[in-house]
Amino acid sequence: MALTKSETEHLISEISRELGAKRDGGYKNLICQCPFCKKEGKFGIYVGKETERKKLFMSHCFSCGASTYTLEQLLETIGRVDLMVTPVADLSAKLEPALLFPLESEDKIDDSLAIIELPDFYRRTFSDSYLKSRGFVFDDYEYFPAGTTGRLNFRYNDYVIFPVIDQGDTVGYVARHIWSKDEIEKHNRRAKLRGEYRIMRFRNSTENDFTRLLYNYDAVIEDETDTVIIVEGIFDVVALIRKLELYDNKQIAVVATFGKKISLTQIFKLQSKGVETVIIGYDGDAVDSIKKAAGELGRYFEVLIADIEDPAKDWQDLSYTEIYDTLAYRLKTPLEYTMTKIQQ
Ligand SMILES: [Zn+2]
Repeated sequence: MALTKSETEHLISEISRELGAKRDGGYKNLICQCPFCKKEGKFGIYVGKETERKKLFMSHCFSCGASTYTLEQLLETIGRVDLMVTPVADLSAKLEPALLFPLESEDKIDDSLAIIELPDFYRRTFSDSYLKSRGFVFDDYEYFPAGTTGRLNFRYNDYVIFPVIDQGDTVGYVARHIWSKDEIEKHNRRAKLRGEYRIMRFRNSTENDFTRLLYNYDAVIEDETDTVIIVEGIFDVVALIRKLELYDNKQIAVVATFGKKISLTQIFKLQSKGVETVIIGYDGDAVDSIKKAAGELGRYFEVLIADIEDPAKDWQDLSYTEIYDTLAYRLKTPLEYTMTKIQQ
């Protein structure tokens, strides 16, 4: 396609304006509502450097799978043939949409989510002795909805339930038993001998796979939040936000990946909101998991690792000063991190 630089720039700005599109994190795609299925944030138009397989203005929808291969097709689709500059329509160029976006070359991204129901009799709480024992303060109840079913739903007796929200919808929940791991194990050993019921530490929702979910995802504001700290669990999110008072900070968000791994869908979810920097805040003892996550994230974001000095501690155990020092003086690039871990 023989477009001059200024023609290309003009087209990109006109198409962006027409579709209300935003650049993705890697600056290679325009992301907007799909003109075919109308799904928000799922349609990508390639505007990066042309390669053998990736051509300028090829487009693809991550939701419905619709694709266009030429500028002309794209302009027709969006009803802006008036923008056509050169009579180029290379329809013979068969291109695999799977090769369009680096994300898709590995796995098909399916980030569709079902809206789910919380357990029967769920009621939000603003004061709970278990949450208080985990450090919850007034603002935490406000920002991180949690609740119980009281005694009305025996399955969830002694569980605290955290809804997982995505674009305002409840798409999952984590239900955690209020006993400690040791207490539960002790009980279960006895229960086994007596043939009684065993207690599950977690009784989470099952409708949506947790690799598609991020806890506190709605705190990532499209094109405002540039840095996201990823941590393992809900209590890490709450602890970090409470201790650093990040409640209303739109530039920095903290999300949990529900474990020490990040999936391509979770990466896509962050990238589609324009996040540029990801700080890995997994527990200090998770060295191999951290290195692996850094490698995967490094293809899409600026990556830094918050190297918690004491490997036995997580964000919940650290004081304000320790957290501050970690984020101020112990942020490492993946290379620096690998070097220190070799030396130790
Ligand atoms: Zn679509």
